[in-house]
Formats: sequence, structure tokens, C-alpha cells
Amino acid sequence: MFEFSRKKTGFLQTPHGGVRTPNFIFCATKGTIKGLANFFIPTTQMILCNTFHLQEYAEKIQSLGGIHKFTGFDVPIVTDSGGFQIFSMGHGSVASEIKGQRYRDNQVLKITEEGCYFNSPLNGNKKFLSPEVATEIQIKLGVDFAVAFDECTPSHGGYDYTKQSTLRSIRWEQRSLEYFQKNAGENQKMIGIVQGGVYKDLRDTCLEYINNSDFFGVAIGGSLGQTKDEMYDVVKYCSRNLRGGKFIHLLGIGKVEDIWALAPYVDSFDCVEPTRIGRHGIALVRGGRINLRNAKHWGDPSPLCSQCSCFVCMKYSRSYINYLLKVRESAGPSMLIHHNMHFMNTMMEEMRQSLENNQYEEVQKKWV
Ligand SMILES: [Zn+2]
Repeated sequence: MFEFSRKKTGFLQTPHGGVRTPNFIFCATKGTIKGLANFFIPTTQMILCNTFHLQEYAEKIQSLGGIHKFTGFDVPIVTDSGGFQIFSMGHGSVASEIKGQRYRDNQVLKITEEGCYFNSPLNGNKKFLSPEVATEIQIKLGVDFAVAFDECTPSHGGYDYTKQSTLRSIRWEQRSLEYFQKNAGENQKMIGIVQGGVYKDLRDTCLEYINNSDFFGVAIGGSLGQTKDEMYDVVKYCSRNLRGGKFIHLLGIGKVEDIWALAPYVDSFDCVEPTRIGRHGIALVRGGRINLRNAKHWGDPSPLCSQCSCFVCMKYSRSYINYLLKVRESAGPSMLIHHNMHFMNTMMEEMRQSLENNQYEEVQKKWV
């Protein structure tokens, strides 16, 4: 039912259809693309939801037939384990390092070997996540891919903290996998995470564990450093040292130039970036991005992108979208989100073709 193979490009088979790789996975954190009604979402091959946000709804969703039926998404679904969100609340800066998000401080109450106690940022209720609890939620949701529970360490933690945290993550991943293997059905697989921050010896420790584990795939997570060079270096290092032909996902990276720089090393990316900037009035175009709030677009009859075949670019002008943003109509952001999603899908399709045809650098220049 599950299979993954990779030559110049790859193919991931799941019970909910196939995914051609490299690919971009859109974030439907709470079970929907924020700001866009589900029936306006362009065809996507895979989406990512979040254990952290779905925790208290998992049982009901299970009783309603699982997350695919509940949300109407009939594509493969992966859930992040919740570790990232919890530790973003505690450490702050991983989120801003990776995704530019901010959480209030002091919401993580206690980290023990057992798991993590925290205050829900949604309603302030005291909550608990552990490898077993996070895995149980993902099993109940019925996702195709559950992610092992880990600690996401920021770079400012320093070597000693990162080491302690990486070793705990490995123990937590092991517990996640054991619980998963005992309780999940054949229509689900688990993905492990390579932690270790910017320290190669810690990445090595984690890579050795992952290489000898029964995870179906692996996600590269944690701090990837402070600069692009450092980030590329860590990702390439992890990718080159992963064995066994596992599916490789890179967590939280979604800028066009980064995807082109790293796609030869990983099979999929996820990030809120394309949809979030759409909500804020920004369209992705070949070679950059444009801010539709800018007054210069008022009176411009051209589409967002003349080479785009999305329904927004086929029918609506920059002028109209500028106007919608100005008068604060939700159609404005939703058109931009739709376009940005279509843009990413088209880009990934052309990227895969360029890999097949050995024209990667040439095609890269058209997009970056
Ligand atoms: Zn478009």
C-alpha cells in the first residue's frame, strides 16, 4: 500500500493516492488552508495538518470516519507531531528562525522524560503531549503519515542543551515508533525526525538511529542555523548520510530560492509561506514577488502573472485585486492564496520535468 522510489525524481504511493517528488506540501494546520474555502484549493498532491491544533478534536474526527472524510481532502495527509509548536512556545526562537511565527512566552509548564505539560494558546487549558499521546492522536485522526514526537531545539540553545535535547528526542522517537507499531493499522506509516541542530556529531548520532530504525520516511528538523549557507549545509549533510532509500522531508522551508537550492537533496517541503503571504496581499511571480497593496497596481489591467494559468490570472486584473485589498474584501487574499498555491504546484511540476530532462539549472533561472 505504501511505497517510495527515487531515481531522478521520485514517486510516493499511499492509500490516498500517489505523490510525485520533489513536491511541496501545503499547510492545512487546523484541517483547512487558512483563508481559502476548500473548494477553491487548486489540486494538491499532499497536505500537512497539525497534531497540536487537532488534539482535542481527534476522538470526534475518528468517530466521523477520520480526517480525510471529515475535511474532504482525499489526498495523502501528514501530521506534524506537535513538538515543534510546544517547543516554539518554550524557546521562542525556533519558530521565528524557521517560520517567523511568534508565541507568547512561559506557556510550556514542564518538560519531563515522560512528555511535556503546557498551556494551550487557544484557551489556556493545561495540556500534555508525550510520544504516546501525540502518536495516539495521529492514529485516531487516520493520517497517512504520523510524525514521531520530538523536541525542536533552537540554535541559541548551544551545544550542551542541543546534545541533551537530541538524545531525548531519540528516546521519544523510539517510544513513538513502538507505540505506533503496536497500535496503528496497515494504512498508516510513521516518519522519524533528524535533530541535532548545526552540530554534525549530533546529527550523526541521530542519523545513525534513523538509518537503523523502521521509520518509513524521515524529516529533517530542528535548527538549521542562522544563515542560508548554514541551512543548506545541514540539509545536504543529513541527506547525504541517510541510508535505506527513505522518503526525505524538509520541515518548514518554503522560500522559492531555498526549494531550488535543496530539491536535489530532499523529496518534499512544507511551509506556511506561500499561503501566509497571500493572506497579506503578496503574490508569487517568476523571479520574485509583488505586493498587491502597492498603489501602483491600481489601474493596471494585467494579471498577477502573465505565464500563470490559474483561474485568478485567467480572469482578474492586478487592479481588481488591489481594489479588493483596499476595501478589505476577503476575496482579495483568497485569490492571492489560490494563485500562490497554483504557482508552487506549477513550479514543482516544471522542476520535476527539468530533473528528468537534465535541465535543472536552466529552469531554475526562470523561477528564482
Ligand atoms: Zn495565477
